[in-house]
Amino acid sequence: KRDLTKSNAQFRKAVKRLPLGVSSTFRYWGDDRTIYVDHGKGGRTWDIDGNCYVDYRLGYGPAILGYADDRVDAAARRGMEVGGVFALSTERELTVADRIAKMVPAAELVRFSNSGTEAVMAALRLARAHTGRDSYLLVEGGYHGLFDAAMWMANMEDWDTQSDRDPEVVSYGKGIPRTLKELAHLVPMNDYQRLEDTFRKYGNTLAAMLIEPIQGNCCAISADVEYVRLARKLCDDYGVLLIIDEVKTGFRVGKGGIQGIMGVRPDICTFAKAVANGYPIAVVAGREEVMRTFRYGGASHGGTYTAHSVSLAAAEECLRILDETPALETIADYGERLKAGISGILNARKIVHSYTGHPSMFGLFFAESPPNNYRDWKKSDYSFYDQMAYHLHDLGVICEPDSREPWFMCEAHGRDETCLSDTLKAVET
Ligand code: PMP
Repeated sequence: KRDLTKSNAQFRKAVKRLPLGVSSTFRYWGDDRTIYVDHGKGGRTWDIDGNCYVDYRLGYGPAILGYADDRVDAAARRGMEVGGVFALSTERELTVADRIAKMVPAAELVRFSNSGTEAVMAALRLARAHTGRDSYLLVEGGYHGLFDAAMWMANMEDWDTQSDRDPEVVSYGKGIPRTLKELAHLVPMNDYQRLEDTFRKYGNTLAAMLIEPIQGNCCAISADVEYVRLARKLCDDYGVLLIIDEVKTGFRVGKGGIQGIMGVRPDICTFAKAVANGYPIAVVAGREEVMRTFRYGGASHGGTYTAHSVSLAAAEECLRILDETPALETIADYGERLKAGISGILNARKIVHSYTGHPSMFGLFFAESPPNNYRDWKKSDYSFYDQMAYHLHDLGVICEPDSREPWFMCEAHGRDETCLSDTLKAVET
């Protein structure tokens, strides 16, 4: 079992100054399990006790090439020489936007933001400004950031599985104004009938439907292609804008994102995470006519740090690598080999299991077939997975506990064969 003496001591000191001892609530894993990082390199992270982990969390996905990638870091240093932010624009904004438009055909016009939250917030505002409507549709189990409008979820705690009644809509935590609730509608993913019924009832009042076709915060549970196509059709029928949130999937599952794989063109799409290998930058992009609503007298958008020279230079290099080299194939191939290795071990022990998502971000389930949506997932027993995740942490493999996030792969995992062998050795144990 790993020694966490220094992390435990750091937690006791940190909690006196930082709520829960961390800077993002999700990084708190319990008083004696919260880890403090010394550094990361490639596909591995070292904590302050010197424990080394093959890391399948990758900061929730951003380190697509691996931590401290020499190529991207060198570019970021060149970006530093530009000088930061100016309240003015730089030429590189267009270079990066051109690259994004080349990789993602729906990204006809591009605006930069600083985080996924900001990008999705801008996307929803844009949709409201463009349509003149306020309501919007969310898919249960999705996560779109920390802004108020995105903080509504289905309450599975008192959900009656026998009845047709939808679960109650509740906020993620406190501090979300109750008066905003009536603008948010939720549908269970992959339920075609309910989607049609919801559009029939509310379609004429919706500005947008937001969907994460692979739910990156819900174990990579995925929408059927036909479901996303139906969403596209219903949006067209009712004058609703389709926002595909690719904050996790973008520049990861494929050059053109999950929209490219599914062949569904959104009106607006959002990216963050993998855009710059972890440097903070996000993107809201979409159809020209819609995007031109960002103007004086239209939808407000901006921000002191948008298109920061360091993040932008990192994005330029990261996207070049993802576009021009076989990095994404290396990543998917590693994911396939990892899944095959894990399955070999589990099959030998007759442990029934299945996967969701994409090889570059997959969820593992101990059931014959994976859940089809958040409701299914909530009904299933995932305690065995959670036990396994904590056991793997002790053995030097870090994946998300509490069955929330999928396993994320990076190019560095694929380049370093010991990542695979060390992971499989731990799974075997
Ligand atoms: N959308 C999706 C699909 C996400 O996965 C996330 C973050 N996990 C966000 C939006 C919010 O991004 P950020 O944490 O950068 O604000």
